[in-house]
Amino acid sequence: MPKPPTKPAELRAWVIAQVEAVYRDLAGRRVERSCELRAGCCHFRQTGEVPSVTSAEAVVLARAVRAAGKTALTPHPDGACPLFDDKTGGCRHYAARPFGCRTHFCRAAGGPLARREVVDLIRRLEEASEAWGEHHPRPLPEALGRVLGRWR
Ligand code: SF4
Repeated sequence: MPKPPTKPAELRAWVIAQVEAVYRDLAGRRVERSCELRAGCCHFRQTGEVPSVTSAEAVVLARAVRAAGKTALTPHPDGACPLFDDKTGGCRHYAARPFGCRTHFCRAAGGPLARREVVDLIRRLEEASEAWGEHHPRPLPEALGRVLGRWR
C-alpha cells in the first residue's frame, strides 16, 4: 500500500480510494452469494446484530451522507440502521455500504463469508483506518457519527 498523505483533504481522498479499491476487489471475487436487497439485515433491533465498521469505511459512508445534504445522522425510530429508508425499503447509500453489509451480515444472501476468504481485504481496510487515525472498528452508527463529527 502506498504511503498515505498527511494533509487532511488529501488523506480523506486517499482513504476513500483505498476502500473503494477493496470493494471493487471484493466484487470481483468468485463467491457463492449475492445480496437480493431484502434489507432484513438493516433492522438491527430485530436481528440483534449491528455491522462493525472501520473508520476508513465510515469515511466512504460519510461522504455519501454529506453528498445527500446531511451532516449528522438521524436515528431510525424502529432501531434500524440510520441509513435505512422506509420510503424505498432499502439502503439510502447502497453503493457506499460498508464491508460487513457486503460480506458478513445476511443469511438470505448466502451467509457470512469465511474470514480466510477476505482476510487480505480486511487487512487493507485496517491499514487505511490506521492511516485515518482510528484503527478499531465500531458499530456502524457510532463509526459513521464519529467521522461525520470531524469532517472539515
Ligand atoms: S448501511 Fe445500508 S445496507 Fe448496511 S445496514 Fe445500513 S441501511 Fe442496510
